[in-house]
Amino acid sequence: MDGTNLARCSCGALQVETTAVAQFIIACHCRACQRRSGAAFGAGAYFDRAAANVVGDPREYCRTPDGGGTFRSFFCDTCGTTLFWTIDDHPGLIGVALGTFDAPVNGVAVHSLYERTKLDWITLDSAALHSEAGYPDPA
Ligand SMILES: [Zn+2]
Ligand SMILES: [Zn+2]
Repeated sequence: MDGTNLARCSCGALQVETTAVAQFIIACHCRACQRRSGAAFGAGAYFDRAAANVVGDPREYCRTPDGGGTFRSFFCDTCGTTLFWTIDDHPGLIGVALGTFDAPVNGVAVHSLYERTKLDWITLDSAALHSEAGYPDPA
């Protein structure tokens, strides 16, 4: 993914623009991401936070994930789309909801996490990493 990437909420009031290349994609099958997204799994592309420009005035919802830390979701006041999120333990990154980009985000490694609560009918054969929970401890 090269050049300028634009992501926006349903109504367009909230946007994230970045010139960076996505570092990886997380497909997260945890129950919290299923509920947050309302979808079968949460999916986001992660970028260098310093390279991402947020336009608009999002509302914020905080939760504490299983792994600890604080997960902050930012959503549009008008249309309700959760457009992006940050994790306090990883301040250099911003996650942007994968379905909100104008151009499809392809060619980026997919990390499939919390597969212990993955729906049976989902297969992500092309994922570079599969984990039953969060990231495996480095060997
Ligand atoms: Zn909106
Ligand atoms: Zn999750």
